[in-house]
Amino acid sequence: MALTGVQIFKLLPKTNCKKCGFPTCLAFAMKLAQGGADISACPDVSEEAKATLGEASAPPIRSFALGAGEKAVKMGGETVLFRHEKKFVNPCAIALNIKDNDDALEQKASEVASSEIDRVGQKLRVDAISVEYASGDSAKYEAAVKLIADKAPDTAIILNCKDSAAVEAAVKAVAARKPLIYAATEENAEAMAAVAKDNKVPLVASAAGLEALSALTEKIKGLGVEDIVLDSGAGTAGEIIQHNTQIRRSALKKSFKPLGYPVINYVLRDDPILEASIASVAIAKYSSIVVVSNISKWKNLVLFTLRQNLYTDPQVPMQVEQKIYELGEPGADAPLMITTNFSLTYFIVSGEIENSKVPSRLAVMDCEGLSVLTAWAAGKFTAAKIAQFISECGIADQVSQKELIIPGQVAILSGALEDKLEGWKITVGPREANAIPTFLKGR
Ligand code: SF4
Repeated sequence: MALTGVQIFKLLPKTNCKKCGFPTCLAFAMKLAQGGADISACPDVSEEAKATLGEASAPPIRSFALGAGEKAVKMGGETVLFRHEKKFVNPCAIALNIKDNDDALEQKASEVASSEIDRVGQKLRVDAISVEYASGDSAKYEAAVKLIADKAPDTAIILNCKDSAAVEAAVKAVAARKPLIYAATEENAEAMAAVAKDNKVPLVASAAGLEALSALTEKIKGLGVEDIVLDSGAGTAGEIIQHNTQIRRSALKKSFKPLGYPVINYVLRDDPILEASIASVAIAKYSSIVVVSNISKWKNLVLFTLRQNLYTDPQVPMQVEQKIYELGEPGADAPLMITTNFSLTYFIVSGEIENSKVPSRLAVMDCEGLSVLTAWAAGKFTAAKIAQFISECGIADQVSQKELIIPGQVAILSGALEDKLEGWKITVGPREANAIPTFLKGR
């Protein structure tokens, strides 16, 4: 039986140390009782208390890893329905489905392995490969799984195979990679649960609709499998929104344990634009793994960007460190530009400076992660503050001519800046970053 907030409070250390992110132990206990927090957030709670808390201490959505090693993807563990309430914590994995009899299997696996890109300082990649048992030949399937594991050594593996004998051989071949088995159904649940339990790997429960799915997860759990992923059979974008929302609501608002697991959505379509659209819906609506039938640079970029934007903390702007960045190998007479420390601003401006091939310095000023115009409007990127930063950062000793190029959007600051920064010439740069190469080359 679930414990009340007060009962849970009695089991906590009662030091109000705030390490859990809540102001008091009582506030944390109340949130735990509502299923909106995870007991592991308190580093000082005793093992004995954890055991006593039992079901009340279990996170509302079970959390575990897809794959093994450094690049394993953590799934589940979400505690809110909407990202403005707190934040979404574990970005959904993107997986490519490859048939075991696909002639381009090796090439596709290599494409996944090299899919990583750097966007605003974060590494983004296709995280997993779903190997589909299309040949009907278990030896061929096992060989394909091994080959894919070899070609994409850091990538998680999903065994898309409902034949328990074929899946068992494949699991054993790549056991160290902790493959996810897709899937247990009403028909094969006992056999699949046995394979998952014996090899300590997670298992997808696949059923048509949420009622049948709840019954299936209870059955699988009863057979000894703890790490379960949900497949409700949702195929269309509408079904994905409906099912995934109901699953998240049931887990968080009703503490309904049979649906308290991460969700997988296969969105395979022949039309790449339609597939990308449905994958976007799944990413936006609570999917933990989205499986697509093909990847390409444009599609990856769309899905990575959407995922990254949803899984950043809306209350904490992404920022880079305040300092003078050297781009190229700037000499003493190289141009000096200034901008704010909003990550996206920094990466766009520095990217355009690099495109210009003109070695330059970029002074990045801490404006609490706000973009140029927002920081200016908020009084954080003013003439007085810029002058103070430039005077204190020591850049005057590194340059042969004291000239500072400010963003065109704050051209209005140039006069006041020249007054405050004695001996400096203030030049107004372009309004938009994409005009920077022409501007720098034309100087
Ligand atoms: Fe209390 Fe633990 Fe939170 Fe500290 S971390 S305030 S001890 S619940």
